Amino acid sequence: MKFPEYVRVAPELGLDRLFDYGIPGRLQGQIALGQRLRVPWGKRSIMAYAVEFPERPEVEQVKEVEEVAGERPLIPGALCQLARWMADYYACDLGAALRTILPGPVRSHEGGGKMAWWISPVAGREELAEKSLRSAKAQAKAWLHLSTSGGGWLTQLVKETGAGTAVWRALVDRGFAERSEKRFVRDEEAPEGGWPGVESRPVLGKEQEAAMGAWEEERKKEGGGRPILLEGVTGSGKTEIYLRAMEQTLSEGKNVIILVPEISLTPQTVARFRGRLVGQKVRLAVLHSGQTVAERRESWHEIREGRVRVVIGARSALFAPLEDLGLIVVDEEHDGGYKQAESPRYQARDLAVVRGRMESAPVILGSATPCLESGWNADREKYRRVRLTQRVDGARLPKVHIVDLRKENKPKRGGPILLSEDLTVALKSRIQKGEQSLVLLNRRGYAPSVQCPHCGKVEECDRCAVPMTYHRVDGTMKCHFCDADRSAPTKCRECGSPVLQYTGAGTERLQEGVEEAISGVRLTRMDSDSMKARGAHAKALTEFREGRTDILLGTQMIAKGLHFPKVTCVGVVGIDGALNLPDFRASERVFQLLVQVAGRAGRGEVAGEVFVQTYTPFHPAIQFARHHDVDGFREQELEYRKAHGYPPFRRAILISFSGASEAQTLASAEHVVKKLRLAWGEKVEVPDPSPAPIARVEGRFRFHVFLLVEKVSTILGDLKREVLAPKWPSHLHVSVDVDPQDLL
Ligand code: ADP
Ligand code: ZN
Ligand code: ZN
Repeated sequence: MKFPEYVRVAPELGLDRLFDYGIPGRLQGQIALGQRLRVPWGKRSIMAYAVEFPERPEVEQVKEVEEVAGERPLIPGALCQLARWMADYYACDLGAALRTILPGPVRSHEGGGKMAWWISPVAGREELAEKSLRSAKAQAKAWLHLSTSGGGWLTQLVKETGAGTAVWRALVDRGFAERSEKRFVRDEEAPEGGWPGVESRPVLGKEQEAAMGAWEEERKKEGGGRPILLEGVTGSGKTEIYLRAMEQTLSEGKNVIILVPEISLTPQTVARFRGRLVGQKVRLAVLHSGQTVAERRESWHEIREGRVRVVIGARSALFAPLEDLGLIVVDEEHDGGYKQAESPRYQARDLAVVRGRMESAPVILGSATPCLESGWNADREKYRRVRLTQRVDGARLPKVHIVDLRKENKPKRGGPILLSEDLTVALKSRIQKGEQSLVLLNRRGYAPSVQCPHCGKVEECDRCAVPMTYHRVDGTMKCHFCDADRSAPTKCRECGSPVLQYTGAGTERLQEGVEEAISGVRLTRMDSDSMKARGAHAKALTEFREGRTDILLGTQMIAKGLHFPKVTCVGVVGIDGALNLPDFRASERVFQLLVQVAGRAGRGEVAGEVFVQTYTPFHPAIQFARHHDVDGFREQELEYRKAHGYPPFRRAILISFSGASEAQTLASAEHVVKKLRLAWGEKVEVPDPSPAPIARVEGRFRFHVFLLVEKVSTILGDLKREVLAPKWPSHLHVSVDVDPQDLL
């Protein structure tokens, strides 16, 4: 075997540009991908990571690597490969991809953090310990705790058991426990009411058995088999499948990554994974955006050192430096949160499949409403579709009523229709029976726009081309795009008319409407305004779970992953706007939202019902959702996508231009279009630039070029050269988004 002679490195403090070095004979065969190296740098030397082994260097004269730091690569080799893949596919530079995988706080310190005592039981001494500790009560108690928990930090053990340090020292002295000094990693704060108990393992139903069977079959195949697309109605026991797959994988000595859409909104899911591991010697790390820099660094190193075996978190948890990966689960795979909005604009769901393939780790994608792309992959047998069609508890799916707002009486004192007659009656009757309801309106604030009836002037944001939303709670107008706010006007800014019209409704106004229609209702509004305070979200959920609230009203925050047996009624208000967005996924999103939120009703013994208020009752997204017909919707939507050549039939790429000068921005976009047409000829159709649906944000004018291509890889080189490489004037932002999610 021939060892590589050259290595391409990314400097630790920067990662942006790559440099080539020679590998001297004495170091050949010792450098792996991701290895930390000391390399000469001018008169000094710096630390850098090995990211590639080029055949020959880019420059003629290369210096040589000085030394190899650490025994193992800091970045697992597989993640280096993943970074490479990301950089290629999502058209970003390798440095940006590496920075995503190896966040700053981890990079600048190898190790780091303070050291602390870790106490663990000595294996094989159980019987002896039991016998000889009989007379020493405190030690016996401490021992019991230790042997069931598998070990812990000394400070925490003291807190948990009340046994002082002397007791633990005695256990160590008597040879029943060991202590070692390790880098301290804080355990998470226990939730209110403590950690959940051990999650019981139910007997699997027939469909669940079949799902496990399919998973077992696939993963025996070479390379981890095909990804499983677990398509199961809400409450059909998907999570139970994830849990079983996790247990099985751990028992074989392999490690697990679980991705969930938004960790802060899915405490129940996290608790179930943790519950299944209580009493086992397996550590689980929860990665979330609320972690401090130090905590992130600690988790990263703990994972890297192999002490954590299960990682659960939002999209970036996909980059957890676990080795021996045996399973990746992507829960609610259709969720928009898996796409990163800024560069590198990766889609964690798709990247999970890529990482799984690279490391021969089986992947499970689960959802009640898989995205069209995944569904299409399953249709073509690229993924293996497994269905769970029945709810576990035998509960039926709720009945969905479509309320035609065109037939509804207008409110006497003007303003929009908030609650229809039917929904009002239903909510009241549920309260009388002591049951609970959810009301969804995906729009925060009081009124989405304020208009002068006199001259027609709409209060717009000064910096963005969007109406500002009136927030009554604090008497402000807010821009939901740039967060700008100002106090609400008392008269028209244009003509001075003192009467202003509040158009449409947000959650604040709906709350007012519900409280007026149902006197004495106990209602909690849940949106990003009302849930700002730390812990507010958890508190609201706890209150609701304990039955201290009748109605939970809010934005899509309330539609996610929550399981409340006493919810029997769901109202959906104001979805027409979402159906009319200029985005080819508009229908799909509404369909998913409706099915998901409907799935929150009737998960207990009482059958549930759903009311969808709309002005377009015959829209396919609404009709298919009404019958919970995921296949029907997919079929019809695929037809529409096919007719227009939209994904999944072709790949979408969005090139965005934004700048302070409208004319210059447009000119640059036109210039790029010309270049691309020249490069591609007939191969790819390049449309003229068009103003983005939201034509101005934060004072910057925005233009889009929307491409649909057969294959991304064949055109990326040209895109990089013509769009990303040129030095644009500094006021101009140019970006390329492969598989874009946000077209506004
Ligand atoms: P999903 O993830 O599809 O929404 P879950 O896995 O959360 O469904 O299951 C819904 C409920 O049913 C949970 O409370 C879960 O503990 C329970 N459950 C799951 N599988 C079984 C089973 N085979 N027998 C009994 N209860 C089950
Ligand atoms: Zn006016
Ligand atoms: Zn704005």
